[in-house]
Amino acid sequence: MHKCTNILFKCMDFRLQNQTLNWLKENGYFGDCDVVSVAGSSKGIADDNEDVRSFLMNQIKISHDLHGAENIILVHHSDCGAYKGSYDFATPQEEEAKQKEDIFKVEGLIKESFPDMSVIKVWAKMNDENGNDVIFKKI
Ligand SMILES: [Zn+2]
Repeated sequence: MHKCTNILFKCMDFRLQNQTLNWLKENGYFGDCDVVSVAGSSKGIADDNEDVRSFLMNQIKISHDLHGAENIILVHHSDCGAYKGSYDFATPQEEEAKQKEDIFKVEGLIKESFPDMSVIKVWAKMNDENGNDVIFKKI
């Protein structure tokens, strides 16, 4: 069996890719994670669309069963098009609060199906709209 410690959920947004790669390297995750890159990161698990949720949960199952992944890393970011497309936020703080609510909901759902996995929750705050200055913070 090929062993991999982590599975990463991140947004597909091109603005975040370089910074996310750097963050993975700085934290020792690079080269040791399966990667799921979809709009809104783990938003599709929090949403009520059962088809999307089961597709994404199956990605975790494959990583867990095939590679023995022990941690799931959920990286969500500010100014996310997937969230702005689904909700009408009055402020960036409102968007952040909704995303964090979803991240904790997703953690609960993952723990139900994969009680042996640890969930690492990360908020990536973009300080400019091009993604040149992103602060990653574990929550
Ligand atoms: Zn996004």
